[in-house]
Amino acid sequence: MNFRQLPKIDLHLHLDGAIRVPTIAELGDQLGIRLPTYDPRQLAKFVQVDRDCRSLTDFLKRFEVFYPILPYAITQERIAYELCEDCARDNVIYFETRFAPALAANDKFTMEDAVVAALEGLRRGRRDFGIKCGLILCCYRSISTQQNLDTVHLAQKYRQQGVIGIDLAGDELHYPAAPHAEAFALARRLELPITIHAGEGERAENIQEAVFDHGAARIGHGVALQRDNELLKQVRDRGTVFEICLTSNLQTCSVPALAAHPFRKFLDEKVRVTLNTDDPAISNITLTDEYELAAHEFKLTPAQIRELLENAARAAFAENSTREQLIAQVRRTA
Ligand SMILES: [Zn+2]
Repeated sequence: MNFRQLPKIDLHLHLDGAIRVPTIAELGDQLGIRLPTYDPRQLAKFVQVDRDCRSLTDFLKRFEVFYPILPYAITQERIAYELCEDCARDNVIYFETRFAPALAANDKFTMEDAVVAALEGLRRGRRDFGIKCGLILCCYRSISTQQNLDTVHLAQKYRQQGVIGIDLAGDELHYPAAPHAEAFALARRLELPITIHAGEGERAENIQEAVFDHGAARIGHGVALQRDNELLKQVRDRGTVFEICLTSNLQTCSVPALAAHPFRKFLDEKVRVTLNTDDPAISNITLTDEYELAAHEFKLTPAQIRELLENAARAAFAENSTREQLIAQVRRTA
């Protein structure tokens, strides 16, 4: 099977984790921001992780190198635009990218500035590369309740321009989701679709909370679901979708080895799973790589590959007409 040619869909893809290394070097130089080096090949060693990365902390440290270049319109717009190009080249027909406006803002550059710039990059990217995409705004576990409420209001304000949903990201070990219940209650009232990073580590109860308390239709990662069979049955019957990111889970040590990943178990138990990249630039992967990896490691049949593609199409936060088109396209060509 030619995985590159498959019409793929990426539902879990961080905008800042998708930034090209040469773009970091160029923007750092242009904006006068100090980087360890401006040579893209050298910089890659500071920004990217390989298979021997050994912790989530190690993984997240890579982002710190280039965080200072984020709160600029030129950066947000360019990385969104280049992401469209990179996805189109990998035959991704639709993607949903996400970022936390609160983490891309500062005194001179507001959360709204960041959203507007990213949407402009996506708009140009759609036009130039003929790709479909949407933007998910991330609330963040370690910031204030008010900032997360502001994030949901921003999502609503820019809904006609391409914002399609709300996420909750950040450190789930040290920061519970409960203090941000109000933000998710607001999202539900506004009928904004919700996905939540939960159970990336060991806490199955975070998945339960995300689905049943906060109304998440999709779960980012959800590796910990393997620890609670009762919950597995409940979320399966409810149709909750799991955004699985295999390489990312390996690199952050969510699982000790690919063979220990519950992906196969979830698939066999008919949980609705999808394959995604998470942070393709940091992990130095494409979605094609993830499909190849899964197919090889878990001995997937062509029917199971089609099931994964169709799960992703069905779970898109896009409007109904787009979703129907994606389903049809996957069925026609996969
Ligand atoms: Zn993520």
